Formats: sequence, C-alpha cells, structure tokens
Amino acid sequence: MSSNPSPHFAIAIDGPAASGKSTLARLLAQRLGLTMVNSGAMYRAITWKILQQNIDPQDTAAIVKLLDLITIQCGSDGIMSTITIDGVDPGDALRAEAINNNVSTISAIPEVREKLIDLQRGYLTHSSVVMEGRDIGSVVFPDTPYKIYVDAAEHVRAARRGKDGEVDSIAKRDAADSKRTTAPLVVAEGATILDNSDHTIESGVAAAIEILRQQGLVIPD
Ligand code: C5P
Repeated sequence: MSSNPSPHFAIAIDGPAASGKSTLARLLAQRLGLTMVNSGAMYRAITWKILQQNIDPQDTAAIVKLLDLITIQCGSDGIMSTITIDGVDPGDALRAEAINNNVSTISAIPEVREKLIDLQRGYLTHSSVVMEGRDIGSVVFPDTPYKIYVDAAEHVRAARRGKDGEVDSIAKRDAADSKRTTAPLVVAEGATILDNSDHTIESGVAAAIEILRQQGLVIPD
C-alpha cells in the first residue's frame, strides 16, 4: 500500500507568555500565505468552559469528565484559526484575568492536551500552518524542520502585557508551563532561538524569515 504524505507543513513558533510570538506568527502567516493557529486560544477556551460550568480548576476528575461532553470546533477564517466550544465563540472573554490565572493549571492535565493536540494536528489536513504555543515544536509537530523559539527579557514581556491592558502574572504562568510534567515549555530539538527583546515588529519578522530560510524553507523575496 502506498502512503500518501500530507502536502502541508507546519512552522512551529514556541516561547513564553508575551514574547511576541502571536504577532510574529500572524505576520509570518500573512507573508507566506498560510493559516495562523493560536493554540493558546484552545487551552483558554477549555478553561473558559470549565469556569463557566463552575467546575473547580483543581478538580481534574470533573474536568476530564467534561471533556467527553463538550464539542470543540476548530477552523480558520482563511487566515486565522477560529474556535467555538459547544457552538459559542468566547471571543474577548478568553483574555480575562480569571482565564490567565487558571489556564496553566488546566493545560497541565494530560487528557486536556491529548484532546487539543489531535485538533492541532488536524489543521494539516486542510492547509499548511504557522502554529504558536508552548509545545508545537517539541510535541505537536516534532518532525517539522521549521521551528523557532521566541524569547524576550522578562521586563520587556511584562511591559508588553501591561500595554495590552491585561492583568496577567506571566512569570507565574511561565513557571507553571515550564515545570509541568506533560509537554513543558522547552526549546524544542532543532529550534532556533529568536531573542525578540530589542526587535521592532518588522525586524523580528525579518529575523524569523532568515531563520526559516536557514532551516530550508524556500521563501521568495
Ligand atoms: O499563548 P497563550 O499565552 O495564550 O497561552 C495560554 C496558556 O495556554 C499558556 O500559559 C499555557 O498554559 C497554555 N498553552 C499550552 N500549550 C500550548 C499553548 C498554550 O500549554 N501549545
């Protein structure tokens, strides 16, 4: 039987909170004509649902039970990933303080990750993607040659989040995301680190394009 490999590929963009990876992933996707997938929004959407159902974020058994009852639809509007959970798009509610405070606890649950990783991999059925998150290069698409780890100094990241008007203890979230047992935030094997502390948006995109070319991606001028 002949195998039929997917014609699609993934560019993995990982890094800590507020390192600028979403903006970078979005602009790269625009420049390359790919779909940008925000995997953090998926973890946030599950967290939103759990809080809405008044389930204690520490109650892993209840959360795992809920996973079987909810329907998550991931898609794209052609350019950006979209998500609905039981038919509802939570929109701006995904950036609320309560979500920031609980998302790392919920995303450390292996069953939650299993469910979302399947959906994340499913994107390649339809299109090539620039996917950003914490474990994209290490777990979701470990075989992709295109991997960037976006970092930035903590004070730069904290200032960036403050400017967005969000209440978000990024240091706490990063510590939880890096220390968890399942799929912790790491620099994936084969990833190139892009220090985004002093980049403008434009120079950061240019640096990422240079890295991807060095990793073998053909990108026209
Ligand atoms: O990217 P963003 O900051 O919106 O992600 C929110 C949270 O979702 C992270 O702090 C992390 O706990 C979780 N996450 C994850 N794996 C991913 C993406 C996000 O665990 N691939």
